Amino acid sequence: MHLSIIIPVFNEQDSIDSFVEAIRPHLARALDCMGEDAKAELLFVDDGSTDRTPEILKALTRRDPQVRFLRLSRNFGKEAALAAGMRRARGAAVVPMDVDLQDPPEVLPQLVEEWLAGAKVVNARRVDRSTDGHFKRLTANSFYRAINMVSETPIPENVGDFRLLDRTVVDAVNSLGETARFNKGLFAWVGFKVATVDYVRASRHAGETKWRFRRLWGLAIDGITASTTAPLRIWTYVGGATALIAFAYAAFLILHTLSTGIDVPGYASIMVSVLMLGGIQLLSIGILGEYVGRIAKEVRQRPLYIVEGDSDGEGTGPGPDTSPIAHEDSAWTPQRMRA
Ligand code: UDP
Ligand code: MG
Repeated sequence: MHLSIIIPVFNEQDSIDSFVEAIRPHLARALDCMGEDAKAELLFVDDGSTDRTPEILKALTRRDPQVRFLRLSRNFGKEAALAAGMRRARGAAVVPMDVDLQDPPEVLPQLVEEWLAGAKVVNARRVDRSTDGHFKRLTANSFYRAINMVSETPIPENVGDFRLLDRTVVDAVNSLGETARFNKGLFAWVGFKVATVDYVRASRHAGETKWRFRRLWGLAIDGITASTTAPLRIWTYVGGATALIAFAYAAFLILHTLSTGIDVPGYASIMVSVLMLGGIQLLSIGILGEYVGRIAKEVRQRPLYIVEGDSDGEGTGPGPDTSPIAHEDSAWTPQRMRA
C-alpha cells in the first residue's frame, strides 16, 4: 500500500531540502499506521522553475528512493501542477502539500488515521489564519462566502488543497476533463465520505509567496465560473424585473398621454420605445445566458454521477473488476454516463 505526497514546486530551491527533512519522521509515523509493507512516495511537480529547483530534485531522487519528480515544460500554475501530480501518483491515498511547510507534516498521521477509519476524503482545516496577513484573510473569507452563495456544491471554508484523498476519489477527479481547473471545487464536487482534521497554519518557512493578487483573482473567477452558472442567470431576473417595470411605465405613459394630451412633444413616444427596447434587450441577454450556461456545463463533460460501490462488489475486496471506479486508462463502464 502506497501513500503519495504530491508537492507542486515553483522556484523553491531554499525550501525543498528542509521540507523533505521535516516530513520524514511524520511520514514514518503515518506509514506505521498503514501497516508493515506500507511505502511512501514524495512526488514533486516542478512547475517550470527557473532557479536551481530541478538540480536539487535530481540530486534528491538519487539519494532517496522515496522521491520522484515530474517536470512541466513551463509554469502552468499550481492547479495544473497538482492535476499533473494526481495523474502520476501511484498511492492508495494521495496528499497534496505545499513545500513551504505551511501545511504542517505533523497532521499527516491524523489524516491517515481518519482515512483508515473509513473516510474517503480527509480535509485539513486551518483554525487560525493569523499568519496570513489581513488582506489575504479578508479576500479569502469574502471569496468563500461569495462562492458558497452561488455554488451548487458547497466548498468547505478554510480548507486548502492540503487534504487526503482516497484512490477512488483521485480517479474520479482525474476523470474530469475540464481545463479551467479549480481543484478545491472538484474535490467538493466528486463527493464521498468526508472527515475533517483541524490545524494551525504556520507562516512560510523560506522563500516568498508565488501568488500575486492578479493570479488569486484569476483563480477566484475560475472557481466561480467552474462551479456555477449563477452569474449568467442573474441577468434573466434583472432583465425580467426591468422589463416588467418598463412595460408598466410605458403603459402608464400611453394612458396618460391619451387622457390628458401631450405635455412635451415626443417625450411619451421616445420614453416608450427606449423602455420597451431596453427591457426586451435585458430579457434576451438573460435568455442567452441560460443557454450559454448550459453550453458551459456541457463542454465540461463531467460525468452525470459517480458510483461509490454496489451490492456486487460488497465484501469481495479490491480486485480488477470490483473497483467501483475505473482507472485512468481503462474505459468507463456503464457506471459513468454522460449528462
Ligand atoms: N506553486 C506552483 N506553481 C505556481 C505557484 C505556486 O507549483 O505557479 C507551488 C509553490 O511552490 C508552493 C505551493 O504551490 O509549493 C503554494 O504556493 P505559495 O506558498 O506561494 O502560496 P500561498 O501559501 O502563499 O498561498
Ligand atoms: Mg505558502
